Amino acid sequence: MAEQPDHIGCAHCADEPAPTGAHIRGWFTAIAAALVVAACAMGWFTPFPQWTAPLFIAATVVGAVFPAQRAWRSLTRATLDINVLMVVAVIGAMVIRQFEEAALVVSLFAAAQWLEAQSLDRARQAIGRLLDLAATDVLIQDDGGERRVDIEQVAPGALMIVRPGDKIALDGIVRSGRSDVNQAPITGESLPTDKSEGDEVFAGTINGHGALTVAVTRRRADTTLARIVHLVESAQARRAPMQQFIDRFACWYTPSVVMLAILIATVPVIAWGQPFDTWLYRALVLLVVSCPCALVISTPVSIVSALAGAARHGVLVKAGIHLERLAGVRVVAFDKTGTVTTGRLTLDAARPIGSMTADDLVRLAASVESQSEHPIAAAILSAAQARGVRPDTPGEVRALPGLGVEGRVNGTSIVCGTPRLMSERGVMTSEAEAVAMDIVRQGMSPVVVAADGIVLGVLGVTDRPKPDAARVVSDLRANGVARVAMITGDHDAVARATGSQLGVDDVRAGQLPADKVAAIEHLRSAHGAVAMIGDGVNDAPALAAADVGIVMGAMGSDAALETADIAVMTDELSKVPYTIRLSRATLANIRANVALSIGLKAAFVLLAVSGMATLWMAVLADTGASALVVANAVRLRRFS
Ligand code: ADP
Ligand code: MG
Repeated sequence: MAEQPDHIGCAHCADEPAPTGAHIRGWFTAIAAALVVAACAMGWFTPFPQWTAPLFIAATVVGAVFPAQRAWRSLTRATLDINVLMVVAVIGAMVIRQFEEAALVVSLFAAAQWLEAQSLDRARQAIGRLLDLAATDVLIQDDGGERRVDIEQVAPGALMIVRPGDKIALDGIVRSGRSDVNQAPITGESLPTDKSEGDEVFAGTINGHGALTVAVTRRRADTTLARIVHLVESAQARRAPMQQFIDRFACWYTPSVVMLAILIATVPVIAWGQPFDTWLYRALVLLVVSCPCALVISTPVSIVSALAGAARHGVLVKAGIHLERLAGVRVVAFDKTGTVTTGRLTLDAARPIGSMTADDLVRLAASVESQSEHPIAAAILSAAQARGVRPDTPGEVRALPGLGVEGRVNGTSIVCGTPRLMSERGVMTSEAEAVAMDIVRQGMSPVVVAADGIVLGVLGVTDRPKPDAARVVSDLRANGVARVAMITGDHDAVARATGSQLGVDDVRAGQLPADKVAAIEHLRSAHGAVAMIGDGVNDAPALAAADVGIVMGAMGSDAALETADIAVMTDELSKVPYTIRLSRATLANIRANVALSIGLKAAFVLLAVSGMATLWMAVLADTGASALVVANAVRLRRFS
């Protein structure tokens, strides 16, 4: 199947409308229309009706220049597109001396194409405009003082000065200063975010009241913004299944219409001696009516509008197909830590076993955790800081996904992780088990610390559900999600407590990354299509196994952007029900568009064959259908 639907293409869905071409086209259209008006005026208001025919012919010729050019190109590729149909219809109309019809058809057609191209462009630009958010030059500070540098020349490591009210030009990390930054252009989040030393800032966002010095971390082509724009653009290029269906449909549709037109023009004349002019005219009307313009744009225009709308809310949908799939999702499965919980954990218990002090226990744990990415690590490190203990530098640190972390500190091998990990290694004692159970009973997650195969103690960390998590779960139910599940590597009792607070149906705890994949498959076979919501890297296999993988807090995380089918820039859970509603609305929108365009076509084909439709009515119907389809689709951009 061809990449572009040229064989049935209307102007917009056909080839590259070069900007200058579009401009000249506009003028030709205007001149053709003016000539039509002049011709009508001659006929009605002046005593020179003999001028009307030449004026109509002139209008036809001017208006037909571009369609003829395109028709020729289509024929050389051995395809039949709408331009061919139009040119045949116009030549036919001239042959039977219907000059007025020919001129009206041509100018209406030109005007329609011009209008459609405009509105489709506008939907596309909504995304392209994101890139314009970035500046063209950057204020850089180096040995020579401050100077403006072309944005393409700025390499990672350079120091960028961001003045109050400036757009931030590149991704980077704040080195000094404090400010509030409006990230709405990327995240859709209306409240500004506070930024100070050590925080990440992103290209395309807008600085508030303070001045910032920012160390650039990515070249312009690699910024989060550039990647988002690139991903959305390639999303638009890929075709949704619905669209593939329409392409297949059009493959046999256009040739059959041409056959039917030939039969209408010849059979009644030859078999029943009917007048040739009448039946040729009906055949021409049929040709014009049969343009599947509205049908061809019905899906892409809805998808593009939905993608643009989602992008405005900080939701990046990487292909139309993910929206179609999401609309059919029956189960939503959440990861726990960092997804339904804030991921900002606190260490609330440190219980040594044996002679060690609590401070030493925290110090040892913090030493290995200092090189871990897990949210638990941050909790242990800040507890160490609060207690005034200094972690040592660890060596040979290794993450044990879903279980814990291990490494060497001053020659001893330290392991931090779940009771399960310790049991598997045969170091768990009954005393440690009892302490861990006590910590679980208090609603904390236990982290067992062992040195050289001996358990030294158990830490308790607490994580809180995001404030809106329970509401989001009930919101999902209200939107027709049959089952909400939580899949986590955490301890069973802790997971159950969180699960019942949020009101999920199904809690699966103690799941390693591979178990999460099995859990997804189980959910799918029991209840139907599954959407997995996770927070990135360690959930990657589960995200890939689900029918739709949604990653939260994707801004600034390249890995998250890669793994996800749908990436939510912020960590606002409410974007999940929003995206599901949007996907359903998009599918409904596409169905309405397809029904409208096929219905209108069918009605007009009947009118054409029975001789009740005229050529210009046919063009008007076609234009009307396309305009309705576009208007209907564009509503998705404002969907909330
Ligand atoms: P979730 O599925 O809830 O996101 P993970 O799969 O990331 O959780 O981790 C599962 C469990 O493994 C955690 O609850 C924790 O007990 C343990 N764990 C993972 N990484 C670490 C670490 N760096 N330090 C201590 N414990 C860890
Ligand atoms: Mg997680």
